[in-house]
Amino acid sequence: MTLRPIVTLPDPVLKRKAKPVTKFDKDLQTLIDDMIETMRDAPGVGLAAPQVDISEQLIVVEYSEEDDDEDTEEEAEAKPKKLYVMINPVIVKASEEKVVGVEGCLSIPGIQGDVERYEAIQVKGLNRFGKPQKIKVNGWMARIFQHEIDHLNGILFTEIASRLWKFPPDEEEHEL
Ligand code: ZN
Repeated sequence: MTLRPIVTLPDPVLKRKAKPVTKFDKDLQTLIDDMIETMRDAPGVGLAAPQVDISEQLIVVEYSEEDDDEDTEEEAEAKPKKLYVMINPVIVKASEEKVVGVEGCLSIPGIQGDVERYEAIQVKGLNRFGKPQKIKVNGWMARIFQHEIDHLNGILFTEIASRLWKFPPDEEEHEL
């Protein structure tokens, strides 16, 4: 596995709509493994392929599975983590309830913002071997998926945030 450089603004790949993945070959498996390693190294809780300069519909997400809104960040961090690899993801169902939360992005260092997201979603897509999969996620996990799927459509959280602010880059935060 290899760490891949994370592209940052104003790289145009971040504004492009990513192409669907059609070939589930060895190169794709290498890309997926590299993305997982790059996400963990950053450290981040999600990464979309355009963030490593590949304009294809592929995301990786890793966060504690049982997300509980009552948890402090420390409590959530201590829970077992679940890794998702999702190819050609589509949100097929979304809750009526929306929630505002703080987001950051590995491709936009030093900026945070308040973003409104669906509290719960169902996502349909393919696993790393091209097999269909459908998952239900809520809370922080749902937020991470929505942030990463936005990346595949060339949408950055700074464009949909209700409020943005700068924060020191040495502060550890959940980066997406
Ligand atoms: Zn991001």
